[in-house]
Amino acid sequence: MVFRQLFDPQSSTYTYLLADPASRAAVLIDPVFEQVRRDAALVEELGLKLAWTLETHVHADHVTGAWLLREKLGSRIALSKASGAEGADIFLTPHQKIPFGKRHLEALATPGHTNGCMTYVLDDKSMAFTGDALLIRGCGRTDFQQGDARTLFRSVRSRIFSLPDDCLVCPGHDYRGLTQTSVGEEKRFNPRLAESIGEGDFLGYMQHLGLAHPKQMAIAVPANLKCGRPEKTTSLDPDWAALTYTFAGIWEVQPHWLEENLRTVQIVDVREPGEFNGPLGHVAGAKLMPLGSLTDRIGELEKATPIVTVCRSGARSAQATLMLGKAGFEKVANLSGGMLRWRAQRFPVDGGVD
Ligand code: FE
Repeated sequence: MVFRQLFDPQSSTYTYLLADPASRAAVLIDPVFEQVRRDAALVEELGLKLAWTLETHVHADHVTGAWLLREKLGSRIALSKASGAEGADIFLTPHQKIPFGKRHLEALATPGHTNGCMTYVLDDKSMAFTGDALLIRGCGRTDFQQGDARTLFRSVRSRIFSLPDDCLVCPGHDYRGLTQTSVGEEKRFNPRLAESIGEGDFLGYMQHLGLAHPKQMAIAVPANLKCGRPEKTTSLDPDWAALTYTFAGIWEVQPHWLEENLRTVQIVDVREPGEFNGPLGHVAGAKLMPLGSLTDRIGELEKATPIVTVCRSGARSAQATLMLGKAGFEKVANLSGGMLRWRAQRFPVDGGVD
């Protein structure tokens, strides 16, 4: 099984990537709109085909990336019928199975935080994705949307706590940086929902949380009821070149694109002079600005003209794109694979030896 736990620092949301290694079919649980580029890059770098995005519920603290991922990768959107959302490909009912390759998740209805909350349980019951129904030593709040503490108590105790004790619990959020827990652990140590705690105690606890509403709520809930479809569908990605975005957070262009667009960009070669004039040669028109001098010499570059950074392998020049981005340059990309790939694909150079 391919398994990754991804984090959105803005909303403290966990997104989970699961994939069947044989067929490469993948599922993303609770993707975040602002992280779609990152998540799509990871799916592509791992050679996966995103079959589904699943929502554990209609979130109040972030907008889902489901709609945008469907646009980008052709994934299908699934969430519970009881969520009241529109625009999904499938509206799940309790115990429905969501297949990906040879594996599947089963949707359990675990309402209480909202009406439409679902917990997704892996086929072998080794993992459960509980959304905000059960958090690590906590649980989701029950004081807005269709929250109901009594319902949440019964969902957790009857549906989640009936899973095997060693079933890993992967929550929708954590605000302290904790990552996973297990059913057995929460049965013993959850301060609100442990088996030793009665329903009345839980109701009292939940009535007195005294939390402010999430800042994003007025935007997030209506957007999530449409599966994250934005009001205006403007392109969010820069389009000055045939850009790809890496999971490492770098915009890149391929050698063939640079070759066709040599005259429209500033080429910044961040290697040392000995390399620039060495056997690999350099791209015609490239400006030599070794990485160590880039910050001091940044004034030599024009802001309006796009920049492509180059080095031997594409590592130092990736760092250069980040430095230029911080300095306010908006159109910056790394030459993927650097001079090594440029030469391997037989593009022309100034200087150098064959
Ligand atoms: Fe929530």
